[in-house]
Amino acid sequence: MAIEPPFPELDEYITAIGEAGARLSDIEATEGAAGNISVYIGWSIEVRRRFPAMETIHLPLEVPELAGGTLLVSGSGRRLREIILDPASNLGALVIDPGGKTGRLYTAPRHLFTRLTSELNSHLAVHRDQVGLTGTNFHAVVHAQPLHLTYLSHIPRYQDENQLNQRLLRWQPELIVQIPDGIGLVEFNVPGSAALMSATVASLRRHRIVVWAKHGVMSRSDLSVKRAADRIEYAETGAKYECMDLSFGSPAEGLNAEQIRAICKEWNVEQSIF
Ligand SMILES: [Zn+2]
Repeated sequence: MAIEPPFPELDEYITAIGEAGARLSDIEATEGAAGNISVYIGWSIEVRRRFPAMETIHLPLEVPELAGGTLLVSGSGRRLREIILDPASNLGALVIDPGGKTGRLYTAPRHLFTRLTSELNSHLAVHRDQVGLTGTNFHAVVHAQPLHLTYLSHIPRYQDENQLNQRLLRWQPELIVQIPDGIGLVEFNVPGSAALMSATVASLRRHRIVVWAKHGVMSRSDLSVKRAADRIEYAETGAKYECMDLSFGSPAEGLNAEQIRAICKEWNVEQSIF
């Protein structure tokens, strides 16, 4: 996928990031300052009217594939639910320099952070990988910590990718339609670490959402930041049903494999989970 001209305005992306953050807060996936969002825009876009101050920063990894592009990124320690109220205080615009080793970070005078998100390395690595692989000129990455998905990732039997998908995607017909390539699973790694970054990149090649065991999720979209947030909401809904069923002593059947295959046939969904 690539966005075609005429390109959307900066404010449209800022509003979409704010709305995604607010929705993730509504579903209790961003307590305190948990979670972070970044959006890569591959064409030249004017950011200095909104974000006039500039400093050059060293990037946590080299991203030559993203050179010339702009990332709108949430600030470290900022609350996703407050972006919509005051985007300039909570977001920065990072323009990647030629070579991809440094970037120019543009901020507003009233910005309330000193650094970008602590998960910037994973965000950059996923953007770089997807842009390199698909040539897309737009890419959104969202990290959040939805309660039920994260809770299940603490239970050993859900720490198997097949099991996780077969149990979570059986609760509503649209789950397999919305997440046909399944939910990836990455074992626990220290937040912000290089190990988490590389495991996430590998998993997000095969999936559009990955569970970070005992931590949260990361989701991506080449269509919109709200699609990436929606996918988190769908996966979390499956996890909510699963938790509800566990708490009632597992009396429910869920959709069986045959029913899910019938849905996929009718809707032309290719999947290999059921
Ligand atoms: Zn986190």
